[in-house]
Amino acid sequence: MSSENSHLLAGKRAVVTGAGRGIGRSIALALAQAGANVAVTARTASEIERLVAEIQELGRESMAVSCDVTDPGQVTHMAATLIEGLGGVDILVNNAGNAGSHKFSNHPDELWHRMLSINLTSVYYVTKAFVPALIEQRYGRIINIASIASRVGGSYIAAYTAAKHGVLGLTRALAVELMPYNITVNAICPGYVDTPMTDASVSNIVSRTGMPEAKARETLQNTSPQKRLIEPEEVAAIAVFLAQDINRGITGQAINIDGGGVMT
Ligand code: NDP
Repeated sequence: MSSENSHLLAGKRAVVTGAGRGIGRSIALALAQAGANVAVTARTASEIERLVAEIQELGRESMAVSCDVTDPGQVTHMAATLIEGLGGVDILVNNAGNAGSHKFSNHPDELWHRMLSINLTSVYYVTKAFVPALIEQRYGRIINIASIASRVGGSYIAAYTAAKHGVLGLTRALAVELMPYNITVNAICPGYVDTPMTDASVSNIVSRTGMPEAKARETLQNTSPQKRLIEPEEVAAIAVFLAQDINRGITGQAINIDGGGVMT
């Protein structure tokens, strides 16, 4: 996104979870290019500190707090620190997440709980920590990075799919409950995106099936009618769109970005 767009979110204060790499990193940079000051969080300090420097080079304020979003104590501390550092918050992007897969018949309980914790309960903890500040100022944009797995089921991803469907339920319930406070709550549902998480999925296929890496990547690309992975910047552009004041009429919605695979 060019600097011509820097008026779109001028003066807004944003927080992005899971911003160290992949989609979250692209969203943080796109929000900053659109004029927002952007605070970032993830567990790996080196990645978010590097991102802070890049955001500051764009002329925006930025700060980072390391946090495991599955730990409510760490989330409370992270939210308090970022709200104080930014002087408030207007835009919250719940992006941190992780995919895991297993055949259902001998599915490990540990994987079930881990998927629910990182992909759903974390969104609950983080949103709960920021929402009082949004309610108090009678303004907010909450954007949840869900998945096309929020829309349809798929083999071997029961826990991830259940969690991501849950994110959509949470999005819709909060859209209604927070409507009186001028807070919109929306979700973005990507198909496979070209990120380190998808690289891990490719490696997983290779190690489980012995398939060559290029073939494994092609398998994921072919899940899209466009026969390609989505770029993180494409997801970020939707986040910038949903964050804008002009789009206050859009709430409780989920936008698919999967190359036309699911049409709802
Ligand atoms: P990546 O694995 O590339 O990046 C994930 C980010 O989340 C990292 O910065 C990671 O940092 C952070 N993170 C992971 N676990 C935690 C945790 N417990 N606490 C805090 N931060 C955490 O993922 P993507 O960019 O691919 O995915 C981002 C989101 O998009 C996820 O919610 C994912 O489910 C969703 N999505 C991704 C798709 C894809 O194909 N890639 C498709 C559809 C949805 P660190 O490890 O340092 O904490």
